[in-house]
Amino acid sequence: MQSKQQFFVRCRKIVKELVEESFSELKDKRIVCFYFPKYFGAVAFSFNISSYVFIGFTKRALLSNFSSKSLIGLLAHELSHMNRFSKMSFIGKCKLIFGYYFSNKISSNEEAETDRYIIKLGYASKRYALARHSEKGKSKEVLAKSQERGYMSSEEIKNYAKSINKW
Ligand SMILES: [Zn+2]
Repeated sequence: MQSKQQFFVRCRKIVKELVEESFSELKDKRIVCFYFPKYFGAVAFSFNISSYVFIGFTKRALLSNFSSKSLIGLLAHELSHMNRFSKMSFIGKCKLIFGYYFSNKISSNEEAETDRYIIKLGYASKRYALARHSEKGKSKEVLAKSQERGYMSSEEIKNYAKSINKW
């Protein structure tokens, strides 16, 4: 297993590059990557408080041994959430925060839109690598649950990317 420190050095470097390349709206934000070992169903999560963007990584992220490609896919996904969020009205933000936790429809729509957004930006192959990584060794039931939560499968990522000429 890579050390926590190594992992965070990799993350911060990628975040910096991603913001430069594709998420210029987040340039004026201070992006803080932190470790939150307690597992609650995700490898990473993000939230925004005024000029700070926080990206938390659970123990699963450290244990996952992501390739650079997959890690870029993961971080682009989290930054995409924050980018979308930063463009919303105050009411829109409230609706999303509340809806995310209490409505499957809102949370799965947010996840799917987030993935479509990074595919449009040109990160299809990275998001695909992450999906392939996450799908490895998972049962059909687990994969179906993940899709229900809005996360695109590797197949869907490829098909969507092809449909918009981003593959
Ligand atoms: Zn997400």
